[in-house]
Amino acid sequence: MSNSICFNSSDTNGLHMSNGGTSMLINILCLSGGRLAETDSQKRLMVYLSEKNQSICGLGTVGFDIVDMPWDNDSFDEDKAFMLKVIEGAEHKLGWDTLGYEPNEEFVHSYLDTFRKLIERMTASDITDSTLYCRCGFPKCSIHDTYTGIHGCQVCTD
Ligand SMILES: [Zn+2]
Repeated sequence: MSNSICFNSSDTNGLHMSNGGTSMLINILCLSGGRLAETDSQKRLMVYLSEKNQSICGLGTVGFDIVDMPWDNDSFDEDKAFMLKVIEGAEHKLGWDTLGYEPNEEFVHSYLDTFRKLIERMTASDITDSTLYCRCGFPKCSIHDTYTGIHGCQVCTD
């Protein structure tokens, strides 16, 4: 089983990863974004990623489309730049000191490269319906400094 991150439902050229590879990618994006997010819309993007948790949702069930991320029309340019910074942070191993394993660098670079291309392609006109659900603040994991979703910390439960 595996997971795919694609641009939208009609474009399946994207990131196709093993279950372990998916967890690793989400881990390092959450670690980086946990340290970089400043605004609510940026935190919301990180919460969305943290909910891509296979130990809760099931193996091979956490693929998603870039257009379905909770993009906010009002701050789209800033938030896209933020996501690119999160990718850059992950490349520089931001937060990896809290990780209990050493991610495979070859996979890291290839996944982050493809993920960056998908994010770069995103424009405000691609936003489908902004999934701006109500939240009571943005709790963080005390161990990993990541934003936690309805399932808790994605890194802890991985
Ligand atoms: Zn954690």
